[in-house]
Amino acid sequence: MEEKGILFILSGPSGVGKGTVRKQLFEEDSDLQYSISVTTRAPREGEQDGTDYFFKSREQFENMIENDELIEYAEYVGNYYGTPKQYVEDTLNQGKDVFLEIEVQGAMKVRESLPEGVFIFLFPPSLEELKNRIMHRGTESEELIRNRLLEAKKEIDMMDAYDYVVVNDEIERAVRRIQSIVVSEHCKRERV
Ligand code: 5GP
Repeated sequence: MEEKGILFILSGPSGVGKGTVRKQLFEEDSDLQYSISVTTRAPREGEQDGTDYFFKSREQFENMIENDELIEYAEYVGNYYGTPKQYVEDTLNQGKDVFLEIEVQGAMKVRESLPEGVFIFLFPPSLEELKNRIMHRGTESEELIRNRLLEAKKEIDMMDAYDYVVVNDEIERAVRRIQSIVVSEHCKRERV
């Protein structure tokens, strides 16, 4: 029987650079399959449906919840975000590794339903730096920035529930660390 793939979950506080690290990782690594999330938030400039997210209405999203089409979902700063179940299950069953980049509440739900996943917490070099990153993002209103900062503080408290902590001091180095985790998790599972 073909071996199942490994599910990797990258999470961490808002503004830590999860999206940037994930994009860089995928420019370099073709063996991981990225699971594109579903969201009700409006696309940002340059974002495309089916590439960055599957953009849905609240009603469509709530239908997906009802039909049990999501592994996890979370309401984050006023919008829904969720991980499609079918894609993840099919891909893992084909023996391929799947990579999720999701916020902390969602990651904790995945931990309950798929504890065999590998949970990676991306950590800011310092809290001051995190605050700067959130404030200088430039795409959000002051209220949203405040909410994201509050959310980030709560998220950091969840760090102990993760298998690995990766400090995002520099994107390239964070990517190398995640690639090392992927290799070690495969070595851990090598058995004859
Ligand atoms: P953004 O709006 O900046 O793209 O994403 C906001 C937050 O939602 C980020 O922390 C991102 O990692 C998270 N996120 C993206 N997709 C999902 C998902 O499928 N589920 C959950 N729980 N969070 C997600």
